[in-house]
Amino acid sequence: MTFQDFNFDEKLLEGLASMGYTKPTAIQEQAIPLILQNKDLIACAQTGTGKTAAFLLPILHKIINTPDKQRHLNTLIISPTRELATQIDQQVEGLGYFTGISSISIYGGGDGAAWNQQRKALEDGAEIIIATPGRLIALLQMGKINFAHLKHLILDEADRMLDMGFYDDILKIIKYLPAERQTILFSATMPPKIRLLANTIAKNPEQVNISISKPSEGILQQAYLVFDAQKLKLLTSILADEKYSSVIIFASTKENVKKLDKELKQVGLKAKAFHSDLEQKEREEILREFKSKSLPILIGTDILSRGIDVEGINLVVNFNTPHDPEDYIHRIGRTARAATTGVAITFINDKDQRKFAAIEALIGKEIPKLPLPEGLGEGPAYQPNRRVGPDSFKKKPFKKKKKVASKQE
Ligand code: AMP
Repeated sequence: MTFQDFNFDEKLLEGLASMGYTKPTAIQEQAIPLILQNKDLIACAQTGTGKTAAFLLPILHKIINTPDKQRHLNTLIISPTRELATQIDQQVEGLGYFTGISSISIYGGGDGAAWNQQRKALEDGAEIIIATPGRLIALLQMGKINFAHLKHLILDEADRMLDMGFYDDILKIIKYLPAERQTILFSATMPPKIRLLANTIAKNPEQVNISISKPSEGILQQAYLVFDAQKLKLLTSILADEKYSSVIIFASTKENVKKLDKELKQVGLKAKAFHSDLEQKEREEILREFKSKSLPILIGTDILSRGIDVEGINLVVNFNTPHDPEDYIHRIGRTARAATTGVAITFINDKDQRKFAAIEALIGKEIPKLPLPEGLGEGPAYQPNRRVGPDSFKKKPFKKKKKVASKQE
C-alpha cells in the first residue's frame, strides 16, 4: 500500500515526502480509511507505530476539503502532557507544511500574558487545537471558546490520561462540544475503563488493534550509522566473524535482495536469495538447506520475517532499516528463538534515521550505535529529527502558524 492509495490531497503528499515517509505503517493502513469515512474509532496502538500521523493525515485531508469559513476550530486533540502536545504539534507542522493549516498547542501554567495569548489565538481561530485537559477546561469555563464548528475530537494516549486522573475532566470538556462530531480515541492499552470511556463518548466506534510483542530479551540489538556506499564492506567484515554460522540478511526490496546476493557471491560467501520471483519448490529447497545449516546465509525481503521458524539463527542483519517498526520486531525475532541468544544488527543510512528513532520509540529503549570498523571511514552523524526529502528546504508554509506555549500543567 502507498499513501497515494488514500487519494490524499497533493499538498499533503508533498508534506509526506518532505517528512521522508514513503509507505503507511500498519496502524495508518487500518485507521486512515475509517477516519476518512467519518467513522468513530477506538485504536489500540503504542508510540512508535506511527499513530500520530494515522489520525493527523486524514484530519488534515478533510480540513483541506472544508470551506474556509467552516474551518475555525475544526479539530480538538486532547493530550495528557505538554510534551506529547508539542510532539503532535510538530507533526502537524511537518505533515501540514504545504497545506496552510494552522494549529495551536495549549497547555497549563504560565503567566497572565500567556493566558491572554492563548485566549486570543483561540478567538482568531486556528484549525487544530492541541490541548492538555486542565488548561482547556479553564478556557472553556471562561466562555470564550465556541466549538460550534468542531468536527473532530481526538483523545491521544487515553490510558495515560485516565492514569493521570483526567476522566472527569474529559467528560466536562465533552459537554462543551457539539454532539454531531467524529470521535477518535487512541490508547496504548485497552483496560475496561478505556472501553467504558470510549462507549460513553463515541458512537458505534470501529476498532483497530495493533498489538506488538516486544523483542525477546535474548537478542543483543546493535546498529551502525553507515552510508549506502559503505554497507557492503561493513557487512562482509561482520560476516568474517566465524561465530555467525547461520545468518539472515533482510533487504527492503527483491531487487536489493538479488543485488546483494550477487555481491556476496562475488566475495566468496555462500549465500542464497529468497524472494517472491522464485518458484514455490525453489523456495522450499532453499529453506531446507538453511534449516539443515548447509546454507549459512539467507538474504530476503520481509516475506522472510513473518512465520519462518528456524532454530539456531545467530545473526540477523537489517541491510536497510525496516520501514515499519513492527517489521523490525518480526525480523529480529528470527534469531534468539526458544530462549537461545542471538545478535540483531541494523544498518542506518543518513535517510533512515527517523525510521530508526521510531523503532527505538516502539521498543522503548535506545539501541547502541557501534563505531564503524577501521578502514571504512566515517559514517553519517545521528540526527533522527532532521527533515529529509526533496522540497524540505525550498518552500515556505503558506500561512504562519500560531503557536502558544506556556509552562507545564
Ligand atoms: P508515533 O507512533 O506517532 O509516535 O510515531 C513514531 C515515529 O514514526 C515518528 O517519528 C514519526 O515521524 C514516524 N512515522 C510515522 N509514520 C511514518 C511512516 N509512514 N513512515 C516513516 N516514519 C513514520
